Amino acid sequence: MIDRTTPLSPVLDTFDRRLDSLRVSVTDRCNLRCRYCMPEEEYVWLPRESILSYEEANRLVGVFSSLGVSKVRITGGEPLLRRDLARLIALINGNERIGDLAMTTNGLLLAESADQLKDAGLGRITVSLDTLRPERFRDFARRARLDHVLEGIEALQAAGFQDTKINTVVVRGFNDDEIVDLLEFGRAKRVEVRFIEYMDVGGATQWSWEDVVPRAEILEAVRRSLGEVEALERPVGRGAPAEQFALRDGTVFGIISSTTEPFCRGCGRSRITADGMWLLCLYADTGTDLKKLLRTGLSDDEIAAVIREVWHSRTARGAEERLTAPDRGPLYKVEGLRRDPHREMHTRGG
Ligand code: SAM
Ligand code: SF4
Repeated sequence: MIDRTTPLSPVLDTFDRRLDSLRVSVTDRCNLRCRYCMPEEEYVWLPRESILSYEEANRLVGVFSSLGVSKVRITGGEPLLRRDLARLIALINGNERIGDLAMTTNGLLLAESADQLKDAGLGRITVSLDTLRPERFRDFARRARLDHVLEGIEALQAAGFQDTKINTVVVRGFNDDEIVDLLEFGRAKRVEVRFIEYMDVGGATQWSWEDVVPRAEILEAVRRSLGEVEALERPVGRGAPAEQFALRDGTVFGIISSTTEPFCRGCGRSRITADGMWLLCLYADTGTDLKKLLRTGLSDDEIAAVIREVWHSRTARGAEERLTAPDRGPLYKVEGLRRDPHREMHTRGG
């Protein structure tokens, strides 16, 4: 049994950023094909035998928690495609050092799983939703299933989930005319909508600056229709990248301006792919193969020592460095993604 009272000395990187938050991708597969993430017809998938079992993933979470990680987010691909995900949730929930256990999902399969996930101890859910128009949804994500996402949002509220958020990637010419509609949807459902600037990450092979709707423009669209907007103070110690704003009636929404105003300075987030590759940054080229360490029989202490050392030398400032990229375009070409699918956004979990 872990002693929660034992204070952990923070594991810091070269910019004194604390190892504190971990995204755990459980699959690289997805049941949607969002244009900003999976625009191609064909993909190279991670080999099935390389995918971590729930026991292996939970063991890694345990090692990270012994180094100070207290926030875990389950992601994918689409995490609900993984069979019996509630079992992994229950395993991680048994770790007393994890104080915040969340999941990001496209919501398609939420209606049938919300109760089980709640019972297993999942704390919070973020649902990705970019449009409220069925035909747009079909054109953009190549599946006609908006109604399933909306049912999923209802189901998670019925199951008793609190602090639900909606993630909306704003893409010019696609959904920038729905900013206010989505905000009003969030207000009606009592969930916080977070608008995300379109990022030039792996997978976004059709990215261009012209398609990015910057934070200032999102705010202007809200002000024009809904009046004054107040910027809220970031809670102390909050590592989350979203800036929060409030409308006059108290409705709170967020903006993640990771493309035009990145937040690398405060980023203590890292991610493990479904096959156990540990990445220090969303923009990282390569990572540390933790599956190999697990499967060659290293002890938890030995794995922890590797993680500590790698984090100590972390210099990642991927999004900030992209600001100075000449002729900025997509991060990778399709061939580069096919050569190493770990670079895909749907592999590294967003
Ligand atoms: N399938 C799940 C979902 O869509 O919520 C989880 C994985 S998805 C990769 C995680 C998040 O990354 C989603 O909210 C998605 O909108 C976001 N995302 C994907 N590609 C993006 C891009 N090019 N720019 C900004 N956000 C992106
Ligand atoms: Fe869309 Fe998420 Fe699937 Fe990417 S992983 S295509 S963002 S649903």
